[in-house]
Parts: sequence; C-alpha cells; structure tokens
Amino acid sequence: MNPHEGGVRVVVVGGGVVGRSLARALARAGHETTLVADGGMAASAVPVALLNPYRGRTGRAHPEDLAALRATWRWAAELAIEGFATGAHRTGAVRVADGPKQARAFAAAGLAPTDPEAAGVRAPHGAFLVPDGGWLDPGAWCAALTRSAVAHGARCLEGRAVVGAEARAEGGWRLQLSGAGLGRGVRTTATLDAEQVVFAIGATHWPEALEAAIGAAPAVERIAGDVVVTRRAAPALPIAGGTYVGPVERAGEHVAAIGGHHRPPGPPAVDAAARLRGAARWTLPELGAEDPDDRIWWGIRAKLPSGRPEVRALAPGVRWVGGFAGRGFLAAALVAEALATALAEEAIG
Ligand SMILES: Cc1cc2nc3c(=O)[nH]c(=O)nc-3n(C[C@H](O)[C@H](O)[C@H](O)COP(=O)(O)OP(=O)(O)OC[C@H]3O[C@@H](n4cnc5c(N)ncnc54)[C@H](O)[C@@H]3O)c2cc1C
Repeated sequence: MNPHEGGVRVVVVGGGVVGRSLARALARAGHETTLVADGGMAASAVPVALLNPYRGRTGRAHPEDLAALRATWRWAAELAIEGFATGAHRTGAVRVADGPKQARAFAAAGLAPTDPEAAGVRAPHGAFLVPDGGWLDPGAWCAALTRSAVAHGARCLEGRAVVGAEARAEGGWRLQLSGAGLGRGVRTTATLDAEQVVFAIGATHWPEALEAAIGAAPAVERIAGDVVVTRRAAPALPIAGGTYVGPVERAGEHVAAIGGHHRPPGPPAVDAAARLRGAARWTLPELGAEDPDDRIWWGIRAKLPSGRPEVRALAPGVRWVGGFAGRGFLAAALVAEALATALAEEAIG
C-alpha cells in the first residue's frame, strides 16, 4: 500500500548531494521515498562548495545555472525555516580575471567590474562581483537535506549499497542490497521493491550486475581535483575562477580551502598543496605560506559530453541522474525539483 496518496514508491540510490536533494524533493512532493546510501567518500565530501553560476573561461552564466542558484537559496531559506543548520552563506563571490584576455571576455559578457581591493583581493587584470553568489559547508548542507527528507517522510538506509536488480513481473523493480560499500565482496542481505528507481551515483563505476539487469549507464568523463585546507584565514568573499578559495569552518574559525587542479583520477601529486598555495598567492598573498597542519583532499567530478547535468531513462522505471561536474551543490536542488514534478505528472497521467 502506498501511504503517500498520488505519489509513487521511489528508491534513490546514492548519498551524495544529488541523492539527498532528490530524497528531499521527492518526499516533499508526496512520493514514498527511500534513500540507499553506501556511505562511500565521494565528491560531495569536498571541503567547501562555492555557489557561483558564472563559470568557464568567458565567465558567462548559463540560464539554468542562474535558475539553479535561485533554487538553492530558496532551499536554504526553507531548510532554515524547518529548523536545520544549512551551512549556506549568501556572502557574494568575486570572480578574478587571470589575464587581459579573460578581462576582455568578462567585459564582452557585460559583467560589471568591481573594485577588487574593496573585496580584499589582488586582481591586476580586474574582477567582477557575483552579488548572489556564496558558499556552503557540504557536510552541513547534506545533513540538512537528509533531516528535511526524513521530516517529509523519506526513509534513509545508510551504509547500504544497491548491488543488483531484477524487473518484477507485476511491474517495478526488486533491488538487492548489500550491507556495506560496493566492490568489497559483501554478501547480499536484503531486497527492496520500487516502482521507480533513480541512480545518483556520481563518478562511481556502474557495477556489472546492474549493467546486466538494467543496461549501460551513460559514460562520464572522470576529472579529479585537489583542495588544500590551510590554517590561514579565509577571505571575506569566496574567490571563484581557475583557482578558487573558500572558507572552511575549523575549530570555530573560517580557514581557507584552495582548489583548482583538473587532472585524471588518482591520488594527488606530492607537490599538489604547494602548487595550489602558489596559485592562490597571486590573488591572496597571505595564503602562500606553508603550514604543517595543511590537509589535502581530493575528489572526482563526473562530466558528460554536454557539460551539463542530465536525467536519463535507462529502462522503464529506472533513471540515472548525473554529470554535475563542478556544480553539484549549485544545481542539485533545481534538478531534484524537476524530477519530483515529472514523477508526479507521470503518476497522474
Ligand atoms: C575538487 C572538487 C571541487 C568542487 N567544487 C564545487 C563547488 O565549488 N561547487 C559545486 O557546486 N560543486 C563543486 N564540486 C562538484 C560537486 O562536489 C559534485 O558535483 C557533487 O558532489 C556530485 O554529487 P553526486 O551526488 O552526483 O555524487 P557523489 O557525491 O559522488 O555521491 C554519489 C554517492 O553514491 C554512492 N554510491 C555509488 N554507487 C552506489 C550504490 N550502488 N549503492 C549505494 N550508493 C552508491 C557513492 O558511494 C557516493 O556516496 C566539486 C567537486 C570536486 C571534485
């Protein structure tokens, strides 16, 4: 029996920001929602997420990214009203030009220059302000999404992985769950039935058992990135661009996280932290100094040829949502709401 009148029984697979956003949006829309999260360390564990839709070399913003930013701030306000600490900060952000060519591209895109010194940044080629930009603490944001999803009726199975699936004769899917992460030979311990399944597994490889049962998942390009968290104080506004700097809360203070490499998957080079500090020094000289407490984090972005997040139907009742590349925290709320609406319309239709 479906206790959520008019909704469908949906299983969301993957406990990153996309899966947790989906769980919240689906539960709020009245679907009977279960989140299966294997607890794997993933891109959503990035130390800081900047919220900046003005991306790429030209600095232009895609209309969907502008809409995504509005949706994210709306969710931040809703989550706060629901009583959850979101870790989201609407401070604005500064986009710094890395040379005269980029400064010209910014001007051609109609991006009004700002006074970098007023923003506390050295920017010899100029900079513009993203007034609606900001940053969030990924851990706090994901925890708020989960609490809200549960408050709206979702069930969260943490520490479980979907390791197999079979189509049911009466319609829908029976999923096989393991007790822990994938690929560790853990024996299947439970099954879960669903009318609809949504996979939001980021850059994780698609298991052979699911390929055999459901079909191939879209091929994504996997791009690794490193972030160094230093004890130096963070700037008042996050700095966006090729090298980005944002705040991380450590021992009650906002220290700086510096990111920027794009490289093939695998652990960071031994000099990754020094290279990031060197790049950040160009705009924020005080970030250059090494500190024995510096920590390096790395993660993998999943990118589709379109460069944009997509929802793909893999089989009747099975969808794959991914390709968020470097904008999962910016875009997940909007994509999740659109999918929740689509499922509700299908249920009515
Ligand atoms: C260095 C770096 C910097 C970034 N900076 C920003 C930024 O400033 N702003 C921004 O918006 N975005 C940023 N991003 C991008 C953002 O982190 C990602 O787009 C986002 O985290 C992707 O979320 P996801 O839920 O799709 O995937 P993930 O976070 O990878 O989550 C997928 C989850 O699914 C789990 N899973 C996989 N298979 C199964 C299974 N079979 N059963 C159960 N669970 C499963 C995985 O273990 C994982 O926990 C950055 C990314 C990186 C790497």
